[in-house]
Amino acid sequence: QLNEMESMFVVSEYAKSYFHDTLLNVEEGKAIGLTYFKERGFTGDTIKRFDLGYSPDSWDTFTNEALAKGYKLEFLEKTGLTIVKDDKKFDRFKGRVMFPIQSMSGRVLGFGGRILTNDKKAAKYLNSPESEIYHKSKVLYGIFHAKQEIAKKDNCFLVEGYTDVIQMHQAGITNVVASSGTALTTDQIRLVNRLTKNITMLFDGDAAGLRASIRGVDLILETGMNVRICALPDGEDPDSFARKNSLDFLERYFEENSKDFISFKASLLMQDAKNDPIKKADLIRDMVVSISKIPDTIKQEVYVQECSRIMDISEDVLFNTLAQIGKKEV
Ligand code: ATP
Ligand code: MN
Ligand code: MN
Ligand code: MN
Repeated sequence: QLNEMESMFVVSEYAKSYFHDTLLNVEEGKAIGLTYFKERGFTGDTIKRFDLGYSPDSWDTFTNEALAKGYKLEFLEKTGLTIVKDDKKFDRFKGRVMFPIQSMSGRVLGFGGRILTNDKKAAKYLNSPESEIYHKSKVLYGIFHAKQEIAKKDNCFLVEGYTDVIQMHQAGITNVVASSGTALTTDQIRLVNRLTKNITMLFDGDAAGLRASIRGVDLILETGMNVRICALPDGEDPDSFARKNSLDFLERYFEENSKDFISFKASLLMQDAKNDPIKKADLIRDMVVSISKIPDTIKQEVYVQECSRIMDISEDVLFNTLAQIGKKEV
């Protein structure tokens, strides 16, 4: 078992180097992959730091190269780098730019691969399949590059995608990780919890981003961590936003626009249905549900006070509701 995992790590490390080398030194990789990354505004340093790569647009070039180097088909298949079907071998990531996904300690666990076109029919990103070394619900993209700065700043920015992490880094904000295509999980939050108690969610300025951040809030509170949410202007994601603005501007923007979950939820109501009493009641109940997730009762009380003030409702009613929710859950 241990040996098997070790072999999977070794072949993944090889694949990382192969894709990276193909991007930088092979004609096809340079013409297609490197051009793509340059157009997205990634510098050579960034490409090296994140070991970005390119997988040739052919059925089995990577697999054959790996086999010729002595890597075993068994582990190419177990890591999902190669798909074996009817005795034929196929490169999983054919024709994609590659993002290696690393553990906290820097081991390569798997890959994300992006198509280069904006063809709406094909899946934009393809990830390594679940395996003994890659559990997508337990990894955070960027954690290896972010861990020191997360501890130092005592805060972690949480974004949605690979390119968000990378572009933020390039702008000079390096305490950033991404859940990358899965809804945030408790295991992912616990990884951050080892480094800081504070998370700032920075989600895409679209409906999907908003939904994802609302779901994430309760999960983070449950883990006993503090969460703030920073909305981006409509249509922006951290990638596009970081690319357009200076470090000074970004730092100020995130500082001034990060809200705790009560203010964040309250601001949603303001946009939505300020004068609708039923919606307001629903929202207050929803806030109390969030408060009920917090393990620390002193913090609970502080948030009840804030909720009371912002929503203009008595603390007594809120505490009663909180007590009822508590009963329902036991
Ligand atoms: P890009 O800027 O390259 O278009 P993005 O990161 O902005 O990508 P989103 O559509 O906002 O992409 O999605 C956020 C994240 O969700 C992606 O980075 C990726 O990890 C994941 N994701 C997106 N589309 C897919 C897909 N079709 N299959 C699997 N994961 C996906
Ligand atoms: Mn999005
Ligand atoms: Mn996005
Ligand atoms: Mn994007």
